Amino acid sequence: MQTINFGIDLGTTNSLIARFTGANVEVFKNPVGLKETLPSCVAFRGERIIVGDKAREWLLKDPLNVFASFKRKMGTDENFMVKSKGEFVTPIELSSLVLKELKNFIHNGEVPDSVVVTIPASFDTVQSNATKQAGYEAGFKEVVLLQEPIAASLAFFNKNLAADKEKGKWLVYDLGGGTFDVALIGIDNSEMRVLDHQGDNYLGGVDFDHSLVMKIIVPKLIQQTGNTNLKEQILTRNSSYEKLYYILLLKAEEAKKELSNRETTEIEFEYSSPEGDEDEIIMTISRYELNEVIKDRIEATLLMLEVILERNNLSPSDIEEIIMIGGSTYIPYVRETIAERTQIHVNTEADPSTAVAVGAAYFAGNKPVNIKKEIEKTTSFAQKIPNNLKIQTGYNTTTKDSEEYITASVTNYSGGLFYRITRTDGGFDTGVKPLTPKFGEFVLLLPGRVNSFQIRVFDAQNNPVLAEVDDVNISQGLFSLYGQPLPEDVCIEVDDLNNNSTKCEMIFARNSILPLTKTIYKEISRTIRKGSDDALIINLMEGDANQHPSTNKVVGVIEIRADKLMSDLVKGSDVEIKIEMSESRDVSVSTHLSMTDQQFNEVFSPTKRYVSILKLQDEINEIRGQLELDLDKAVKAEDFELAAQIQEKSAKGKALYEQTKSLKENALTDEKYQLDEAKRKLARQLYTNGVVNNRVLRVKERYYDLMESLQYWLESLQDISVKHQDEIKKLKDTESEVMRSNNYFMAEGHHQKAIKLMNNVILYTPTLLVSYYHHYSSLSPEEYTNFDKVRKEIARGEKALERQHYDELRSAFMSIVSMTKNTEMVETKIKGTGLG
Ligand code: ADP
Ligand code: MG
Repeated sequence: MQTINFGIDLGTTNSLIARFTGANVEVFKNPVGLKETLPSCVAFRGERIIVGDKAREWLLKDPLNVFASFKRKMGTDENFMVKSKGEFVTPIELSSLVLKELKNFIHNGEVPDSVVVTIPASFDTVQSNATKQAGYEAGFKEVVLLQEPIAASLAFFNKNLAADKEKGKWLVYDLGGGTFDVALIGIDNSEMRVLDHQGDNYLGGVDFDHSLVMKIIVPKLIQQTGNTNLKEQILTRNSSYEKLYYILLLKAEEAKKELSNRETTEIEFEYSSPEGDEDEIIMTISRYELNEVIKDRIEATLLMLEVILERNNLSPSDIEEIIMIGGSTYIPYVRETIAERTQIHVNTEADPSTAVAVGAAYFAGNKPVNIKKEIEKTTSFAQKIPNNLKIQTGYNTTTKDSEEYITASVTNYSGGLFYRITRTDGGFDTGVKPLTPKFGEFVLLLPGRVNSFQIRVFDAQNNPVLAEVDDVNISQGLFSLYGQPLPEDVCIEVDDLNNNSTKCEMIFARNSILPLTKTIYKEISRTIRKGSDDALIINLMEGDANQHPSTNKVVGVIEIRADKLMSDLVKGSDVEIKIEMSESRDVSVSTHLSMTDQQFNEVFSPTKRYVSILKLQDEINEIRGQLELDLDKAVKAEDFELAAQIQEKSAKGKALYEQTKSLKENALTDEKYQLDEAKRKLARQLYTNGVVNNRVLRVKERYYDLMESLQYWLESLQDISVKHQDEIKKLKDTESEVMRSNNYFMAEGHHQKAIKLMNNVILYTPTLLVSYYHHYSSLSPEEYTNFDKVRKEIARGEKALERQHYDELRSAFMSIVSMTKNTEMVETKIKGTGLG
């Protein structure tokens, strides 16, 4: 088994490459300057492209041709204009340039085809795909993605093997340049699982730098120079102060770093007034000022940390330690605040800069290369292995024991041959033994490392015989990973006919371990005529499956247009949808239409997401409009508590809208992605609290009414089947959590279950069937759509009643119900059964 071995931390600010060497990890150094970190910074100078420290230095001289922090734009459709070339580059291209540069760090001439690249745990599918794409563009043939908190913990725990970290729960707090991630890690028997995580892709050191510029430096500068337009101009692309913004960002970052070691620092820069006067500005910045501008963001990280604890029913004493990584955790205020407020021990032993790359390499050291070696297989093996001798092995790839049993089975076995297993360091050797169709060996392992073994075959003269056999790699004592969790629910959008809307149907729940596969069966909800301009839409989304689809993000859409259909797709016919997601988040969806016997396959690898400010404003206004309506209703109903809640949300909506108004499509910051995120949050609160038309309250009322009847029947009727008795109890047992959630979609789901159960109870409990039959068979003639037919059914029903033939009675009853005009009550009651 050949393993990937190479791991890359493709960071917002800094990137690193490391290699697993069997027992350890080597972090490669830049041949120029011998630093381990490569600033994720790209400069264009004429025809030359410069990456890293030199590019960063160039930022001061020619900021418009130097690009940094582009990781935050991964997965968006935003491009960067290279002034000197008059061309646009994409965040993917810029990232691939960083990856290519990292390849130069490998000093032993190795050129890896496969690599592990880390991503923030909260990267969605689009951002993940964009990262893989950058890897391919940098020349890698296989790119395996690994979530950063997992990488960091692999590094931390593998470095502290001796420590008694056999069992327990840790938090990894990663505050870097561009993103924040906090992950809950559980360890049991050296196996590590990510139990939960929270993160924000737009929270990190560059935000601190930006705030320091906008809230401290620029106001001071305005005070000193009297140029009140500065605040606006400095953030406008192509304005005369755009360059100053980049320079101040850099100065702010330097100051911020210095303030990790002292109480005050000074920055110096050139300022030229609108009239063209040059000025040398010297400004003092204090640690207190820095702390003030980052305070709110640190609060936000604390909140996410608390959410994780709460969601997992943990108290601070259940957590062993908080492992701090990421360059921004050097800031004393961060360490102190987190320790003080959580009362959990903060561990700063991990190297904040290299932990992620080191962990990625550990992971890579256990990950088999998975590129089809076609040339090797078709030429060298076919030619050189005349009798197709092949040995397949089986063993545990990780163990805590000091030895491991390898089993082997031989295909195309022929007699007179021998085998020998050796450990590559020479410390273990089975000696030459006769080859049998099946054999097994205990092999000895060195502790705390990956042990590699070779299996070779010989003939009677001890000449080597070619055989197709993989190397054996067994990792002893190292922490292993149970798997990578899915960061958000993956769902598809389906019709919500009861509400004339759509809703989400869960496919994979968040925190499920990748890779994942699921097949679901749906019914067509309306007839789609062949050749019409209608289409069947399969919309795969990610986010929260218990929310309205508008609050979630689209992963990919399959549109099966009616002109592609072999025949009409009739309402009620079956659709089979199979969704697969790989560990590196490749998504494929195959759809089979049973009616037309057609299959549609699609692989989703979207690498861009577009956020339009106009659309954003539209959506925010729609939410605000809804809130206005609800406010009216609440006021009329004199429900002032609810009105106050709605007003609070309205104010948020208004503030968001105001913010979008001051945005420009080509603004320098990523504020529009942040606002888009905020809009989704607002929409989520709206639907969660059911403020919109108070839908959730109505559903709850209807549900409790139904349950009251069911409960009454349960207590008073003798002939309810045991099965139905159990089902009623089960529904009751699970209701409190669902109803407490105040989530409309969850409540409605439970309500639908109750309707379905109620229908079945009526149909299959003789006492109820008889009484409902009497009711429906005694309506006045004009209440039926076809009274003649109803009369016949009544005659059939009466006979069945006399003979106590309940199957027959049920059938007559259902016919009668289906011919009843005023069906409101009946329809909701009968529809859910799927009968008829
Ligand atoms: P990323 O993973 O996003 O590339 P890193 O973990 O390398 O980021 O952290 C980079 C961030 O850490 C930058 O914003 C940088 O300014 C900040 N940083 C680095 N050293 C210090 C320090 N001594 N004090 C405060 N911030 C620091
Ligand atoms: Mg990082």
